[in-house]
Amino acid sequence: MQVSLIVAAGGSGVRFRRGLRGARTRTSKLFCLLGGRPVIVRSIEAFRGFPEIREVLAAVSLPDRSALAKTLSAYGIRAKIVRGGKTRAESVRNALRAADPKSEWIMVHDGARPLVSRKLIKALLVAARRGGSDGWIAAAKVVPTIKKAGPKGEIQATVDRSSLYEAQTPQLVRRRWFERSYRDNPEALSATDEASLLEAIGRPVKILAHEGWNPKITAVRDLELAEAYGSAGGGGMTRVGFGKDIHRLVSGRKFLLGGVRIKYDKGPLAHSDGDALLHALSDAILGATGAGDIGDWFSDRDPKNKNLNSEKILAAVLKEARRRHFELVHLDTVITLERPKLGPAKEKIRKRLAKLTGLGVEDVSVKAKTMEGLGPEGEGLAVSCEAVVTVRGGGAS
Ligand code: MG
Repeated sequence: MQVSLIVAAGGSGVRFRRGLRGARTRTSKLFCLLGGRPVIVRSIEAFRGFPEIREVLAAVSLPDRSALAKTLSAYGIRAKIVRGGKTRAESVRNALRAADPKSEWIMVHDGARPLVSRKLIKALLVAARRGGSDGWIAAAKVVPTIKKAGPKGEIQATVDRSSLYEAQTPQLVRRRWFERSYRDNPEALSATDEASLLEAIGRPVKILAHEGWNPKITAVRDLELAEAYGSAGGGGMTRVGFGKDIHRLVSGRKFLLGGVRIKYDKGPLAHSDGDALLHALSDAILGATGAGDIGDWFSDRDPKNKNLNSEKILAAVLKEARRRHFELVHLDTVITLERPKLGPAKEKIRKRLAKLTGLGVEDVSVKAKTMEGLGPEGEGLAVSCEAVVTVRGGGAS
């Protein structure tokens, strides 16, 4: 299953700008910070690490295009930036035309919906894989009592809400029918969501109801509420994990740190490949998510784990974290090593850790220390590493 993600960010955000009293009028809500990260970055980051999602296309209106390119690259997000249209549906169509022809599914998400949960994204992908419809959309049951009123405010009816849902994004649609809906429906460019395009040509679309909070940031108040929700631990909790590891350095062993080969005539003595940095990091993630330690998962008594590639340990640990609904948001590490000097390898390790964890480079820190000749590391007998990670999630949404 191959999916292209289209992020609809073409809107002018007039309602939002009007609400920003005294602020610069050109501030787009997409670049406002939520929990220290731009709204658009959060809206896209939620989709990281799903193997089905092969590319991101962001449809954005002209004044924001170069700002978006700069922002995304600063956070290590790769996306094709596509010209936004006059309407949301036109923006999405422009992106659809630029999508990889091999993608048979299109996921559309609002650029201003930053609290979407990974659990919800996963549920859409699972539903699509099971089949039985041409589209699935995230939706919330309508809870308030809904009144229908006339022009003078006189109530005409109380609407039966038992079968009413608020349509949200993400929306996942089968590309073939999505493309046809643009072709065959003269009203297509005024559609306000993707499902209605498929509905208009008679294709089945299903609701995927969820109970998480997945608001679209429309007014300044929405941003303030989302900020407060995050500070209060909404959308899951924030936790910190700590890990450390030490290995004796001996002649004739390959020396790996964070998956990067270090040129030296010695290397760590170990049952596995001895990558102390990846071991410390993996233990930190296990610690943050309450999942034990590496020894529980990869016993050094198990012959299966002999010379085990530590990148596999990290991958397994990240998978377990996701299974527990945690996402890694930041990591910080210290490598204590007297010789060799790490120098430029430090930046290489940082990039490698970013790649292995799916984090942006700016969310990964690698520091090196010597011990001024003191202790086993100082005497050149060992390498030791420490890691601290921040994770978020664990909640039901
Ligand atoms: Mg170790």
